[in-house]
Amino acid sequence: MSLAADASPVFPHAATVRHDWTRDELRALFALPFPELMFRAQSVHRANFDPTEVQISTLLSIKTGGCPEDCAYCPQSAHHDTGLRAEKLMEIEAVLAEARAAKSAGASRFCMGAAWRSPKDRDLDAVCAMVEGVKALGLETCATLGMLTAPQALRLKDSGLDYYNHNLDTSPEFYDRIITTRTYQDRLQTLDHVREAGIHVCCGGIVGMGESREDRIGMLATLASLPVHPESVPINMLVKVAGTPLANEGALDAIEFVRTVAVARIAMPRSVVRLSAGREDMSEETQALCFLAGANSIFYGPKLLTTPNPGRDRDRELMERLGLTPMA
Ligand code: SF4
Repeated sequence: MSLAADASPVFPHAATVRHDWTRDELRALFALPFPELMFRAQSVHRANFDPTEVQISTLLSIKTGGCPEDCAYCPQSAHHDTGLRAEKLMEIEAVLAEARAAKSAGASRFCMGAAWRSPKDRDLDAVCAMVEGVKALGLETCATLGMLTAPQALRLKDSGLDYYNHNLDTSPEFYDRIITTRTYQDRLQTLDHVREAGIHVCCGGIVGMGESREDRIGMLATLASLPVHPESVPINMLVKVAGTPLANEGALDAIEFVRTVAVARIAMPRSVVRLSAGREDMSEETQALCFLAGANSIFYGPKLLTTPNPGRDRDRELMERLGLTPMA
């Protein structure tokens, strides 16, 4: 029996989805005493999900490095000298072999990431064939390929793509400190194309990039006021990579990270909130607090595109200790 089904409404409006969140309201949530914030996030989580279930995705870099964009956090940008070797788009069969391995390790969704500004049409042919192949294995499919035109989004939908990831990264105000080669508006437009094509949206951001709390509020307010909330909201902690402009950024307080997850959970009650990059350097206790704050998805597997992620055994053991099970 689902625990979500018989959860009592301990916090009023815990299941209400709103698209008119103001920054003032989110600021007030961030400022709550921690036990009160956690109580509210838990109430919302339980009204909408089974709090013992965690959705598991695996992410594979199908085309690594040499990206023309200048995202300050990213080791794959051609603008930064990180020693990463650029590679060509993987062969379809090699991608499907990875997808089979992910499925047998317990993943329900397979995400394919390519370091492009936007895909060329011939590259999209290959990606569509990958999506069809992964779908045929019985996995949900997700891709992150950069900016999409409306026709490209429709082609991906026709090939069976379930989710498209395109992050807003941060607040509109902080954005140009992080990326100058595409605008915030470009990102919102790709999200529109994805939504209009009928593909589920995966969209979140990165914290710990030197932004202020006000920027974290701005990012969450933008996400929570989209006409439809992203079905999946990844909250990433910056992974500092030598050679990138953010390599020496100071650490973000772990409690502030948990607060960010909790506010995301409250503002987007029915979205799956994913603990994404940065778990490798995060204590198990912090991760446990994030699950309590309403995170209910993780990436599984030793690598996240090009940066390390906890090994499957470590994750399995942590989930067992916390009594969490994979979401079907
Ligand atoms: S985050 Fe994506 S778009 Fe930005 S540099 Fe990295 S691969 Fe390119």
